[in-house]
Amino acid sequence: MCGVFGAVLPAGEPTEAANVAALGLFALQHRGQESAGLAVSDGEQLMLYKDLGMISSVLDERRLPSLRGRLAIAHCRYSTTGSTLWENAQPTFRLGPQRAIAIGHNGNLVNTRQLLDELPGGRARLPASTDTELLTALLADEHAADTVEALQRVLPRVRGAYSLVVLDERRVIGVRDPFGFRPLVLGRMPHPSGESGLWADDDATTGWCLASETAALDIVGAAYVRDVEPGELVVLEPGVAPRSVRFAEATPALCVFELIYFARPDTYMEGRNLYEARRRMGIQLAREHPAETDMVMPVPDTGAPAAAGYAEEAGIPYREGLVRNRYTGRTFIQPSQTMRQRGVTIKLNPLREVVRGRRLTVVDDSIVRGNTTKQIVALLRRAGATEVHLRISAPPIYHPCFYGIDTQIETELIAATHSEEEIRAFVGADSLGYLSIRGVLAALDLPYERFCFACFDGRYPEPVPYDAASRKFMLEEAVAGHA
Ligand code: SF4
Repeated sequence: MCGVFGAVLPAGEPTEAANVAALGLFALQHRGQESAGLAVSDGEQLMLYKDLGMISSVLDERRLPSLRGRLAIAHCRYSTTGSTLWENAQPTFRLGPQRAIAIGHNGNLVNTRQLLDELPGGRARLPASTDTELLTALLADEHAADTVEALQRVLPRVRGAYSLVVLDERRVIGVRDPFGFRPLVLGRMPHPSGESGLWADDDATTGWCLASETAALDIVGAAYVRDVEPGELVVLEPGVAPRSVRFAEATPALCVFELIYFARPDTYMEGRNLYEARRRMGIQLAREHPAETDMVMPVPDTGAPAAAGYAEEAGIPYREGLVRNRYTGRTFIQPSQTMRQRGVTIKLNPLREVVRGRRLTVVDDSIVRGNTTKQIVALLRRAGATEVHLRISAPPIYHPCFYGIDTQIETELIAATHSEEEIRAFVGADSLGYLSIRGVLAALDLPYERFCFACFDGRYPEPVPYDAASRKFMLEEAVAGHA
């Protein structure tokens, strides 16, 4: 999972596109904390700046003024292929025989091995070990009149999850794979003078942007126009209305985990506000798994909407029993197990006055490996909780994800190798209950067919060549193989 943002500003715009893109990306920090970067075009040439670290430390005031131009793309990374190295930060950039191009990619390709075989010169030509680097090289090499045509030729050979922001000298292009696994939305920015009304309808004076989530549009003052459709390219050029080009038929399968957990609660997806959707998941969870306790509390911050819904439905008081340090990253998103284990105690501190002597219903949004949950239950017991009843507002994760979430090894998933009773015993809870797939759909009030539920039910929308796609470091291994 990563965050992407793209901005195209009209002529005469006093604000540089880099500022808008950095601001938009800042709203997407939760989607990736390993690296950040920005690529701009002034209409003639591309410039790139990227580094490891959080967005605010990479894209600070010292860097942004030198990145001039009306077109920009930005990216924050959470690795699903390749190690946490500077080379693997994005946007990627390539000056190929046919064109200069930069790409920010959210998702994960599943036929990387096959695509590598198509690249003349092979792995030795790639400075980085990510699937995005490979895709960038293929596009920069492709004999085609322009970037749009190159994308139309290359993308039908690409399998897996990709929501892209692509930059060349003259345009920013938004791309979504035919399944639309990862979100991507189009927004319209008003002219800063405000002369043509709040939302300008004159294409010559309107700015356009692309973002992983609608919350990022809010932050830059843009209005949501529509989703980029699965199998669609949206071409943005200064002073021109967005142009839609379809490169594949749509078979929508948006990642349902985006709605359950990953995306911000103030984001809208599939016409649903995610805070409200999660609150309704909590209501369903209370119906499916009631517990007789003294209070309902969330694992902050992401468990809060579902906990509020649970408490409302169960008629049990809602309290906050854990305080989260806001200045550390998400536990799940840290790349290594060592970091994750250290993470939870740095991040969460129990409110002893609230939990002592009480029977607790603790609501969280997922259990992946189980270690974090185990530590949280232990923290609450040490703080004096008499009972801990764990309720999860998602179904058990039985299967790995190959479409951009870093759960690629089945044996790391506790639900894949343990029964529910074994998980309860491992995490040390008095009882455990997961929301069913049916419960998720009831809360969303949307049909199953609209989503990918593969990590819950194993029905992968895009067939996955397991041996190749399950290896996060495949392109690094390809180098070792060549050596
Ligand atoms: Fe999302 Fe799970 Fe599908 Fe991956 S497998 S895209 S995490 S629903």
